[in-house]
Amino acid sequence: MNQLGIHALVWAGDLSPQSIRHVIAQTHQAGYGLVELSLHGPRIMDLALTRDLLQEHGLAVGCSRGLTFDADVSSEDPAVVARGIAMLQEGIDITQRIGGRYFGGVLYSAMAKYGHPCSPQGRRHALEALRRVADFAGERGVTLGLEVVNRYESHVLNTAAQALEFIDEAGCANLCVHLDTYHMNIEEADLATPVLACGDRLGYVHIGENHRGYLGSGHIDFTRFFDALARIGYRGTVTFESFSSSVVNEQLSNALGIWRNLWDDGMDLARHAHGFMAEGLAQAHGRARP
Ligand code: MN
Repeated sequence: MNQLGIHALVWAGDLSPQSIRHVIAQTHQAGYGLVELSLHGPRIMDLALTRDLLQEHGLAVGCSRGLTFDADVSSEDPAVVARGIAMLQEGIDITQRIGGRYFGGVLYSAMAKYGHPCSPQGRRHALEALRRVADFAGERGVTLGLEVVNRYESHVLNTAAQALEFIDEAGCANLCVHLDTYHMNIEEADLATPVLACGDRLGYVHIGENHRGYLGSGHIDFTRFFDALARIGYRGTVTFESFSSSVVNEQLSNALGIWRNLWDDGMDLARHAHGFMAEGLAQAHGRARP
């Protein structure tokens, strides 16, 4: 029904050859069809090895990242915008070279708490940059997902409505909305309306608890969310995201504020999440059938 994915930070904090072997083997063993690699952190990935291991295990791959204050396409400074564009193009290039077709995340601003609202000029810069980068991605067969995140991680796109408006203005066929239940819990009125508003412009989904730990151990209404996905006939990837201080990527964990230990055993967590999502989605798709 939906391809299930898992974020690599459940398994390892970096993408060294040794870690990538572990990440891909564990993802496969836990029953997932896709692994999402975060491009935060030092550039130590062996792209050819990664591509070969993914193929060997029959796994799809997606990449994600957020920009930084010194490489921010929503900046008013053209030099900072240019560094942001270069960072996005590098991410797209890596995605293509390891055999991926999806690159998502906070591609439209720094992934950080801003001390001020986004200026009209900053938003214009982000829009122009994403248009350019979407062309670059399109030539490489890559779709870009604009992940809608909470107010403490960006000041550009905090709701699905804002993302839809942004994508409409950009007018690029390979730009889609990426929703994440963890962020929706903070910013949206409920977990169904934004999904219905997106319809076929929803291209990627992150499933996370409100505290980013075990699914079902928090208060997110996943039944409502899965039902909304079924109602729009969503057939795309659904990726589990969870973070604990037991697996650390310095850049990403610090940007996301991962200070607490919510689990130690990644395999137990991953198997539990796979069952939770597969069952929840199957039931929702069943209920949506006439
Ligand atoms: Mn996410």
